[in-house]
Amino acid sequence: MKKTKIIAIDGPSSSGKSTIAKLIARHFDYTYIDSGSIYRAITYIAVKHNLIDNFKIDTLAIIEILKKTSISFSFNSKNQNIISVDGVELDNEIRTFKISSLVSLIAEKNEIRQYVVKIQKDISINKSVVMDGRDIGSIVFPNADVKFYLDASLEKRSERRWMELQNIEDVSLDDVKNDLHKRDLKDLNREFSPLVKPKNSITVNSDNLSIEQVVYNMIKIIDKVLHS
Ligand code: C5P
Repeated sequence: MKKTKIIAIDGPSSSGKSTIAKLIARHFDYTYIDSGSIYRAITYIAVKHNLIDNFKIDTLAIIEILKKTSISFSFNSKNQNIISVDGVELDNEIRTFKISSLVSLIAEKNEIRQYVVKIQKDISINKSVVMDGRDIGSIVFPNADVKFYLDASLEKRSERRWMELQNIEDVSLDDVKNDLHKRDLKDLNREFSPLVKPKNSITVNSDNLSIEQVVYNMIKIIDKVLHS
């Protein structure tokens, strides 16, 4: 049987991971999995049930709800994942500024992370995948075939996120930058599965490169590693 492959792409928020991961998955005909969407979907569920705000989070109650909730993925014709909660597809509702500003509170809870890691492993069985996140090469798939750490400056990342949000809601560049900065600090300093450069990962800085250049460079590296 053909061995399936795992390409892990970690990095800070808005470093271009999802856009780049999708293009790489398409090139190799692998499945793209956006692990941040799982944390976002859980945040969405927590908000809906009034179990989280900027000051408090009821982790036990969230876990109880997750036990009765089905989070699933389907794949569209481009092999990209669409996340659903109890059969209802989620898209822009998990990308809002409110969800972004609360998601790190969810992602720092170890009980929630364990639940998410199980989903990540289950959906990758028998598939070659490109998965992006914060802990893919360090915790979820430490033996991934190729591991990248995609980096970019706070300024560039804020501009990119702000541009994306233009289609969803009205928010200032400064607010986006402050929120990204706060999320960076939380993701880097949390106790469980903090954002790190995974061991044996290849760092790519996208500040002065176009998406196409980054993808081209990463595909060359993947080809070399997989075929050497
Ligand atoms: O990638 P995205 O910005 O959608 O992720 C949302 C949040 O989910 C991140 O800010 C981070 O706190 C969390 N996350 C994580 N581990 C992952 C993916 C995302 O902690 N593997």
